[in-house]
Amino acid sequence: MTVPAAATASPAPVWRDVVGQAAAIAVLERAVLAARAVVDAGENVVPGAGMTHAWLLTGPPGSGRSTAARAFAAALQCPDGGCGRCHECRTALQGSHADVALVATEHVQLRVDDVRPLVALAQRRPSGGRWRVIVVEDADRLNDNSGNVLLKALEEPPPRTVWVLCAPSADDVLVTVRSRCRRVGLRIPPVADVADLLVRRDGADPAIAAYAARAAQSHIGLARRLALDEGARIRRREVLTLPAKIRSVGAAVIAAGQLVEVAGEESRAATGERDAAERAALLHSLGAEGATTLPPAVRAQVRQLEENQRRRATRAQRDVLDRALIDLLSLYRDVLVLQLGAGEDVDLVNVELEQQVRALAAGSTAEATLRRMDAIGEARERIEANVAPLLAVEALMVALGRAP
Ligand SMILES: [Zn+2]
Repeated sequence: MTVPAAATASPAPVWRDVVGQAAAIAVLERAVLAARAVVDAGENVVPGAGMTHAWLLTGPPGSGRSTAARAFAAALQCPDGGCGRCHECRTALQGSHADVALVATEHVQLRVDDVRPLVALAQRRPSGGRWRVIVVEDADRLNDNSGNVLLKALEEPPPRTVWVLCAPSADDVLVTVRSRCRRVGLRIPPVADVADLLVRRDGADPAIAAYAARAAQSHIGLARRLALDEGARIRRREVLTLPAKIRSVGAAVIAAGQLVEVAGEESRAATGERDAAERAALLHSLGAEGATTLPPAVRAQVRQLEENQRRRATRAQRDVLDRALIDLLSLYRDVLVLQLGAGEDVDLVNVELEQQVRALAAGSTAEATLRRMDAIGEARERIEANVAPLLAVEALMVALGRAP
């Protein structure tokens, strides 16, 4: 069998850190070629010819969506289609390229006020680069109003503008918006590819990288944190040893408190420093540094900032908690694998906890394990729906502790 040359050519260096995504990269590289033809045609270009101006990049959390979007932006800007070394490539990958806008939100929704400036930006020719690229990292957070505003821009794209919308799946994006985009899907990358990336890019120890990629179930961001931060490894272990300790309702309530506490600690560690810096910068810009009493106008601004920071902290805590619940889910998934007798063919996610997994498997039934996994799913949904985390986690721990 002969393989076409294009399929055997390895991707341009700029795609180096986009691991396990050969199919998606092939599609995007063809687009980069088409884009070069458009640039080479100069002013003779027919608007819309040869290049797709709106892309929807989908993939599960941690699959590398935003890394892929940046690599695509870099390849579009690079005179060599993504050499990975030139100024265009480096700045686009780092997020500092003047013609590549990276839009992420910490709010629950992208609002009209967030989208309008982007639509205006899309109308402007690139300042020095070959394309104006606008990457919207949370396109699933567009609401009806902001989606409508964006739609206008997607329908009549200026000849040198490329939109790259990112979302977990196409179903998460307004149908009007996604119908105007060309879709490229990322898959969950193989564990070995993620481990390689951690060693090569982040200098992680190979054994720890292998553990981290497996424990994070190929979520690249989580794997990276597990590989580089011993505190994160210890916290994960604490979470996974909770089920063995729940022998009564009282113990379940204590375990719930511990879990929420660990999540709070971790999210505070992540946001605290930034909050203080933002506050200092705001006071500085208002000329109110070191003031003991703040004038009313300043006070209003500080209150607004604190409000935003509180919202961000709440979201960070919920995100951390959700990850802890995904870890717990992986533990029961392992228990189920053993209970169903599939342990020979299927690798455990938590190999290092095999003894505990075996004990849990021996002490319950597959039905009970499925019930517990359902309870974890329900807790995740309740937390997502803004139920107080401690309440949701207490109910979960009681359900996990119930007799098999
Ligand atoms: Zn380059």
